[in-house]
Formats: sequence, C-alpha cells, structure tokens
Amino acid sequence: MICPWCDTDVEDDWHAFVGCMVAHESWYWVGLSTVLQPRVGTVSSLTDFVFDICRSESRDIAGRVALLLWQMWVARKDVIWNNVYHTSTSIGRITLLYGSNGKKFINSPHHRLCNTRIV
Ligand SMILES: [Zn+2]
Repeated sequence: MICPWCDTDVEDDWHAFVGCMVAHESWYWVGLSTVLQPRVGTVSSLTDFVFDICRSESRDIAGRVALLLWQMWVARKDVIWNNVYHTSTSIGRITLLYGSNGKKFINSPHHRLCNTRIV
C-alpha cells in the first residue's frame, strides 16, 4: 500500500510514524526532533525505536512521543477512512494541546505504549 500522505513511498510502520515527511515534520512541530534524529539509522524497527525512547528518555518526553504517535495514527485513519487530510502543523498543534491539558499519563497512550508486554 502506498502512503496516503506523501503518495510516493510504500507504507509500513516506520514510514508512517518516522520516515514520511508529514510524520517527520510533525516531530519537529512538537519539539521532539532532538528525540527523533539520534535514533534514525541506529535502531532496526519502530518497536526498538519506541522502547529505546521509553528506556532512555524522561517520562515527560516519552509521554509526548506517545501522544504524537497517537495523533499521527488518528490523522492517518482520517485520511484513509474519511478522506480528511491533516497537515504536520495541525498534528503538532493537537498533540501540544492534548499534552498541555494537565491530564495524568495513567491510562494515556504513553502508559499503554511503555507498559506493553511483548509475548
Ligand atoms: Zn509518506
């Protein structure tokens, strides 16, 4: 399947959340480029990428990453199912708004992401 955002590359999990230009720009808009850049090319999968963030970064940073990944997932579903396109700016804005509302991260995307067991 071709990526619905850039319409040029084959869509896989890495491309959807990291490699696609829309995803890449979204990391920038939420101020997480410094989390993304050092890991590109050093991890072999999206799973390793996420677990490295959960293991190495603060709870706040890992929480913001989880919110961003969740918003990218929601935005991609909107393209595929509703033909509604979100820009990287709007994905970033929604992520920042959701992250700044003071909710605890218990049962948040971060909590679920970093506490998922691989069977
Ligand atoms: Zn793409």
